[in-house]
Amino acid sequence: MELFKHTVHALHGMLVKKDISAVELAKSVFARTDAVEPLIHSYITETREQAMAQATAVDAKIMRGEAIAPLAGIPGALKDNICTKGIKTTCASKILANFVPPYNATVVDKLAAQDAVLTGKANCDEFAMGGSTENSGFFVTHNPWDTERVPGGSSGGSASSVAAGQAIWALGSDTGGSIRQPAAYCGNVGLKPTYGRVSRYGLVAYASSLDQLGPITRDVTDSALVLNAIAGYDAKDSTSINAETPDYTKALVQDVKGLKIGLPKEYFGAGIQPEVAASIKRAIDQLTAMGAEVKEVSLPHTEYALPAYYLIAPAEASSNLARYDGVGFGHRAPGNDIIEMYKKTRSEGFGPEVKRRIMLGTYALSSGYYDAYYLKALQVRTLVKQDFDKAFAEVDILITPTAPTTAFKIGELSDPLAMYLQDICTIPINLAGLPGISIPCGFVAGLPVGMQIIGKPLAEATIIQAAYAFEQANDYHTRFAPLGEV
Ligand code: GLN
Repeated sequence: MELFKHTVHALHGMLVKKDISAVELAKSVFARTDAVEPLIHSYITETREQAMAQATAVDAKIMRGEAIAPLAGIPGALKDNICTKGIKTTCASKILANFVPPYNATVVDKLAAQDAVLTGKANCDEFAMGGSTENSGFFVTHNPWDTERVPGGSSGGSASSVAAGQAIWALGSDTGGSIRQPAAYCGNVGLKPTYGRVSRYGLVAYASSLDQLGPITRDVTDSALVLNAIAGYDAKDSTSINAETPDYTKALVQDVKGLKIGLPKEYFGAGIQPEVAASIKRAIDQLTAMGAEVKEVSLPHTEYALPAYYLIAPAEASSNLARYDGVGFGHRAPGNDIIEMYKKTRSEGFGPEVKRRIMLGTYALSSGYYDAYYLKALQVRTLVKQDFDKAFAEVDILITPTAPTTAFKIGELSDPLAMYLQDICTIPINLAGLPGISIPCGFVAGLPVGMQIIGKPLAEATIIQAAYAFEQANDYHTRFAPLGEV
C-alpha cells in the first residue's frame, strides 16, 4: 500500500522501526497531491519547503536514536483559519488574501512540539461560514468520493485532504458542525471537543462562544493521538478549561458492555434521508449486540436550536468581523475619506454569505431588536442545554446521524436556508458546548454516511471508546476514496 494511504499510528510504527523515513513519507504525500489536487483543490497554500525541513529534522532524530512523539514526521494539514507564523492565513477570504500572521496559534505550537510535519493550509468556507466549502472566496473543493459533490464544510479542505491522501491527518474548526459534517461526507473521523478543551488562541474568531478546534483523521486511534497533542489548558485563551487532560489513547478499548446509549427521537424524523437513518439503525443494532443498552430519549427543544444558532452565531460574527476595516491588517481599498475606505474595503473583501451574516447579526443586536432576537436566542440556548442535561442523567452517550443526507452535488443547495438545514444534527451540540465525534458507519450509493456520538462535558474518552468499539467491529474506516487509481 502507498505510504500516503496509511494512518498516523501505522506510519509512526514504520518510522520508529526505520522501515521508512519521514522524507520518503512527505514525498509520497506530495506526489499524491500533485496527482489529485487538480481534481480536489484541498489547499489554499502548500508549505512543502518547510515540510521537507521538518521531515529531515525528524529523520535526524531517529538516526540519533532519540524517541519521537506520535505525530513526529507525519504530514498534516491545517484549516486556513488557524494562525501560522510567517505562513499566509486567509480564512478563504479576499479580505485576508495576503495576511501573514506574526504568531502561531497555540495548537500550531503544540503540533510543532511533537515535530509534526505541516503540508499546508486547507480551503474552507469564508471565515468558516458554510457547510460545503462553496463559500470559499477563492475556489470550490471537491469530494474525493465523487468529485461532482461537495466535501462538506466549513472545514472541507481539511476533510478532502485526508480522504484523498494529501495529508494523513488535519485540523478543522467547528462552530456548528464544521469538523463533523465534512468528516461524515468524506468518510473520515471528525472530533469536536468540549468547548474550552482545546485552546482557541490563534483560531480566527467566527462565533467565539461556539468555536472549537479538533482533529479530522482516518480512524479513531488517530483522532485520540491528535487530540492528545492539542488538548489542554492555555492561559492565552480565557475560555480554556483548566482541567487535567487524560491520555485519550487509554480509551481505545473495544468494550461497550453496559454502556447506556440514548437515541434522541427528534433526530430521526422528517428531513433525514431514509438510507442515512437506516445506516445508523444498523449501527445501533450492532452496538446492542455488543452489549450496549439502548433507549429512546427526547430533546424537545431541538427544533429551536437552528434558529437560535443563526441569531447567536451571526451576532457574534458581526462583532468579530468589525476588525476587518482596512486599517489594522488585510485588504484596503482606497477611498476619498475614511468612511469610503471602510465601505469599499468591506464591500470588496467579504463574500455574499459573510455579508449576509454581518447584516443579520448587526440587526439582531440593534437596540430595538436585541430583546426580541438575540436575548431570546440566548434563552433558547439554555433550554437546549437543559434538554441535554436531562438526557445525560439517564444515558452515557447519545447517537444521531451527523448530517441529514450524504454529500450533495456542487451547486445543489443554492438557497442559503436549505444549506443551513444541513447543520440540524450538529448545531445543538455546539450550543450546549458538548463533545461530539463523527465516524463512518456505512455507505449509500458509494457515498460515506457519518454517525455522531455525543458525550457529556469533558467526556471525550467515553465517545472515543464507543467510536473505537464500533470501528473495530467494521471495516468502513479502511476504505479509501476511489481516486486511488489516479
Ligand atoms: N455550517 C454552519 C455555519 O455555516 C457551521 C459552520 C461551522 O461550524 N464553522 O455556520
